[in-house]
Amino acid sequence: MSEKLSFVSPTANSPWGTYLSQVDRVVPYLGPLARWVETLKRPKRALIVDVPIEMDDGTIAHFEGYRVQHNMSRGPGKGGVRFHPDVTLEEVMALSAWMTIKTAAVNLPYGGAKGGIRVDPKKLSLQELEKITRRYTSEIGIIIGPHTDIPAPDVNTNGQIMAWMMDTYSMNVGGTATGVVTGKPLHLGGSLGRVKATGRGVFVTGREAARRLGMDLRGARIAVQGFGNVGSVAAELFAEAGAKIVAVQDHTGTIVNTNGLDLAKLIPVANKEGVVAFKSGGDIVPNEDFWNVACDILIPAALEGQITAERAQKTTAKLVLEGANGPTVPQADDILAERGVLVVPDVICNAGGVTVSYFEWVQDFSSFFWDEDEINVRLDRIMMNALNQIWDTADKHKITLRTATYAVACERILMARQERGLYP
Ligand code: NAD
Repeated sequence: MSEKLSFVSPTANSPWGTYLSQVDRVVPYLGPLARWVETLKRPKRALIVDVPIEMDDGTIAHFEGYRVQHNMSRGPGKGGVRFHPDVTLEEVMALSAWMTIKTAAVNLPYGGAKGGIRVDPKKLSLQELEKITRRYTSEIGIIIGPHTDIPAPDVNTNGQIMAWMMDTYSMNVGGTATGVVTGKPLHLGGSLGRVKATGRGVFVTGREAARRLGMDLRGARIAVQGFGNVGSVAAELFAEAGAKIVAVQDHTGTIVNTNGLDLAKLIPVANKEGVVAFKSGGDIVPNEDFWNVACDILIPAALEGQITAERAQKTTAKLVLEGANGPTVPQADDILAERGVLVVPDVICNAGGVTVSYFEWVQDFSSFFWDEDEINVRLDRIMMNALNQIWDTADKHKITLRTATYAVACERILMARQERGLYP
């Protein structure tokens, strides 16, 4: 009986279309809860705002902004804010829905939300960036809050932008509301461990997956695509555990060393100039060769859509750890499954970031801050518990870890929906 949404036209490969097909795939595993599934196929609330600012040259510019709260059955909305000229309402809807799945998969007491502004921040002065952030925050201020919806950084947003968002919201409510956003600078209620949290989560889930596969991390060969916040931290932790990082690719190119790259030397060079500047440490090879490098573990930690059907056919990896969001196209996913390659999906593998964001929010409420060891121990425990539950579900139904993650997450969300009941 439900009406189709009139404000989006998803296609098979568009973000919202992809999300809808992921949900359809788990319906057979939801039992009687399947009667609630339509609730996952539409956002609870979607706000479109006009963001006008006066530019440095005196002209008035208008930008389109969004905040979508996909589902809040299990708690307040949680999800980042993206500043990008190509952001659309449909993309933000899909990203908010993936946050609903991610927070439920690791069992955090949150729903899913996401926001964005259609703007290229590189074309703004610092003053214009502050203005657009503050006006956007004020416009979405009617639906965000420490108990309702908590934004965080995403593409092209950072700790400074979170500080402006926190200040603007606080000015409007007449107090200091540190818990309204996460990813803040440390002295403004930020958390230790947040910067490395996503890479650490990739390591924790990868270590457990390797153990279950009977793969020894000592000497294991790892190829990493994307050597930024997620990829470089994960690579460092695997190297500390005895693995060899045999190939790294970033936007500048690909470097290979079958004896293992020296990360202590590579990381500073990569941060400054990109990996190809580290010529003395390995061989620079054509980018497509990255996918042929003999390896045991492949970590895509750059962009979406990188593992295509063709690349899925050639990889020698036995384990894929999705640090990036959406790095594997659906057809490649099926090929990897047929070839017996285990994929730890993004919605669990890279959930370390939102987990430490949750710790930040909890610490802000109690105004009591934990040391980094405590953060890391708690992160390890949450990620391990989540992965083990998902693994058991995959074994029980003989399904992939991705489908199992969606099954576990959707069951939690719909159970909450059912227990709360429909209002009125
Ligand atoms: P980042 O900007 O720090 O690093 C991105 C890396 O990808 C850089 O090394 C860059 O050179 C590389 N890259 C860019 N274009 C490339 C290309 N065409 N080919 C190969 N490499 C390319 O970003 P990040 O924070 O590490 O995020 C990486 C991925 O992880 C994204 O998909 C992001 O959505 C996802 N993610 C990040 C977090 C987080 O907390 N940072 C959390 C969850 C998911």
